[in-house]
Amino acid sequence: MVAEKYAIEFQELGGEVFQNHKVNAIKQTGHTSNIQTSQGDFQTDLTINCAGLYSAKVAQMSQKESLDVKTIP
Ligand SMILES: Cc1cc2nc3c(=O)[nH]c(=O)nc-3n(C[C@H](O)[C@H](O)[C@H](O)COP(=O)(O)OP(=O)(O)OC[C@H]3O[C@@H](n4cnc5c(N)ncnc54)[C@H](O)[C@@H]3O)c2cc1C
Repeated sequence: MVAEKYAIEFQELGGEVFQNHKVNAIKQTGHTSNIQTSQGDFQTDLTINCAGLYSAKVAQMSQKESLDVKTIP
């Protein structure tokens, strides 16, 4: 319910919400990230990772070196 409300407000401010887009890889080029998903690629200047228990895994996708972080539930 909270996430749903965030999504509505985000869309009201002009944002777009894409569901069922699994993030498979994140490539950094300078200050831009290329987010590769199961349904296409997206270019972003700012990436907010909110993948819950998979946050550490998604964060690692953008780094070559090991981040050595764990998501603790
Ligand atoms: C069994 C269980 C019971 C719980 N009970 C409670 C409770 O009673 N009270 C409480 O406060 N908390 C509870 N929690 C914890 C609660 O679920 C989390 O604190 C909360 O859901 C975290 O929200 P979040 O938005 O950070 O992550 P999530 O709700 O986990 O959302 C993460 C999202 O990221 C998506 N995602 C992951 N990897 C990728 C990827 N590669 N590409 C694209 N999307 C991806 C997932 O599909 C998911 O939609 C419980 C957890 C579990 C497992």
